[in-house]
Amino acid sequence: MSTIAHNLQVVTEAINVAAREAQRMPNEVQLLAVSKTFPAQAVFEAVLAGQRAFGENYVQEGVEKIGQLAKMRSCTPLEWHFIGPIQSNKTRLIAENFDWVHTIEREKIAQRLSEQRPEGLHPLQVCIQVNTSGEASKSGVLPADAAALARTVAALPRLVLRGLMAIPEPEDDFDRQRAAFRVLRELYEQLRAEGIALDTLSMGMSADMRPAIHEGATIVRVGSAIFGARQYNKG
Ligand SMILES: *Cc1c(COP(=O)(O)O)cnc(C)c1O
Repeated sequence: MSTIAHNLQVVTEAINVAAREAQRMPNEVQLLAVSKTFPAQAVFEAVLAGQRAFGENYVQEGVEKIGQLAKMRSCTPLEWHFIGPIQSNKTRLIAENFDWVHTIEREKIAQRLSEQRPEGLHPLQVCIQVNTSGEASKSGVLPADAAALARTVAALPRLVLRGLMAIPEPEDDFDRQRAAFRVLRELYEQLRAEGIALDTLSMGMSADMRPAIHEGATIVRVGSAIFGARQYNKG
């Protein structure tokens, strides 16, 4: 078995254990394999092991990999999620190539993605990124502004609003990790109570997926625990 296939088994088992601890069904938690900085061959090994959903942070790199994978295994439909910061001059490539976007934080970006989503593709599935710590330096909309942005996004014709996403500050302690995810989960419940249709909580990465699953994550975004340590020698 390849290392990647082995790691996928370990991560899947950890998701199942955490779901059971939280008295949730393991199939309520989807594993998004974050393949940023890793080559198409690594994605291919994960596909051979049964993984179908992949996350990318950099537009150019992601689009290149999507093209390479389409050639390698055209019969298996893969699901590509964009999870990085979005510059407005990159929205067209995202709209044309990805299935999901987790990092909507501005109305203007959402409008461009909706306008640029090709007619032949199903609508783009999106999450709003929330700045759960409230620090000005962090990405994401402030919790107080999330409802207004959610209503705007939900009204765009070529987008389907699915949920909320956050990347909390790294913490070592389980309870502190969990507290940050609770902020997102409570906001999610509040928006649903206000009548906004949402079914997705995108939260938890390699180091904190267990507390995220305890707080209700429906997508965990896991990179290094599957593909190994990343080397950042690119922009
Ligand atoms: C890189 C990244 C991940 C995966 O992080 P790991 O610690 O490698 O699991 C998840 N989400 C986002 C937004 C990322 O940029």
